[in-house]
Amino acid sequence: MVDWIIVGAGFTGTTLAERIASQLDRKVLLIDRRDHIAGNAYDYPGKHGILIHKYGPHIFHTNSKKVWDYLSQFTNWEPYYHHVLAVVEGKHVPLPFNLNTIAALFPPFMAENISRKLIETYGYGEKVPILKLRESKDTDLAFIADYIYRNVFKNYTFKQWELNPEDLDPFVTARVPVYISRDDRYFNDTYQAMPLEGYTAMFTKMLSHKNITTRLNTDYKDIRDAHPKARVIFTGPIDEYFAYQYGALPYRSLRFEEIYKETQYAQPSGTVNYPNEFDFTRITELKRLGNQHQNAPGTILIREYAEAYTPGKNEPYYPIPTRDTAEKLKPYKALAEEHAGKVWFAGRLGDYAYYNMDQACARALALFEKSIASAA
Ligand SMILES: Cc1cc2nc3c(=O)[nH]c(=O)nc-3n(C[C@H](O)[C@H](O)[C@H](O)COP(=O)(O)OP(=O)(O)OC[C@H]3O[C@@H](n4cnc5c(N)ncnc54)[C@H](O)[C@@H]3O)c2cc1C
Repeated sequence: MVDWIIVGAGFTGTTLAERIASQLDRKVLLIDRRDHIAGNAYDYPGKHGILIHKYGPHIFHTNSKKVWDYLSQFTNWEPYYHHVLAVVEGKHVPLPFNLNTIAALFPPFMAENISRKLIETYGYGEKVPILKLRESKDTDLAFIADYIYRNVFKNYTFKQWELNPEDLDPFVTARVPVYISRDDRYFNDTYQAMPLEGYTAMFTKMLSHKNITTRLNTDYKDIRDAHPKARVIFTGPIDEYFAYQYGALPYRSLRFEEIYKETQYAQPSGTVNYPNEFDFTRITELKRLGNQHQNAPGTILIREYAEAYTPGKNEPYYPIPTRDTAEKLKPYKALAEEHAGKVWFAGRLGDYAYYNMDQACARALALFEKSIASAA
């Protein structure tokens, strides 16, 4: 007897499976069409003794004590502050663009003048989205805004999305604001850490409850009619669930290139962004993401190339956050409403939303409390 079918074993589906099994004492069948759990957070030990993040580097950070406390039941953590450098005019400079970046790129008197004006105008410690900074009427601030836009944002955004920054939902560019600070950490969240044994080990523990059966290599369409009485939580693509009847929602995909080097470390920080040169957007050195594997003799670099999504050929990684896609999503949301009480949609693909891992987990916890616990 299955009470709940959950489609997708990523952060969203796994959190919900764990909650329903442990808090409601209901039987859950969790399926994933991939041959592993953990969704896009899946990691595995590679042959060189370094943990590989199969779907791109995943760094955990959150301001939510609730999410942190919840996940801490299933893993120990290793504190980790992510640092990102961008190559601008041949120099490695800190990102988000901050007062140290200005000091690294301009002569001292100029850097001091611009920094003073930024602090006076916005306040020390503030984060200013680049599109807002570009509205400044002050000549020095307009100069630095234009410089940052041209050297850091414009080409990187185009490589990543094939769109200009103005054409994206403003929250995307606001994710990497100009930071009026000397704090070089990429994230400022209260909790920043990597799961000590990796994400897959954490998910294995979350799914170890006796009420959960996990079945891999299983597509929802294969078991759709097998448990007619079970309620369904669907964390796959919402347009796929409804047979693309209003057309396919667009996604951006990525290609990863793995490079092994026989040297302790090969670059100066966890991630180096290349806004202007090369076809790839960034390179991440996996060994620097927490030091579980610092004793491995070599190192692995992951180059990321953004590319168009073609179903069946590559993965649908990022929902494309524009006004146009928000319109395309609306009829699917209306269909989901019609299925309320029988099927719940959630997650990166089910909500068609650009979630970080903690947001996917928070969304699942909120859905459980507000709607699922009372429906069981
Ligand atoms: C390159 C990259 C880097 C990222 N880095 C970070 C980071 O550093 N920090 C951070 O917080 N977040 C990061 N994220 C975001 C993070 O990956 C997501 O927040 C998280 O994966 C969302 O979990 P989810 O369960 O909603 O979706 P997913 O992890 O995508 O899980 C959905 C699962 O559903 C399965 N599925 C779909 N359809 C079906 C079907 N019909 N039948 C069966 N199974 C199905 C899929 O196989 C998949 O395993 C990154 C994302 C990408 C793409």
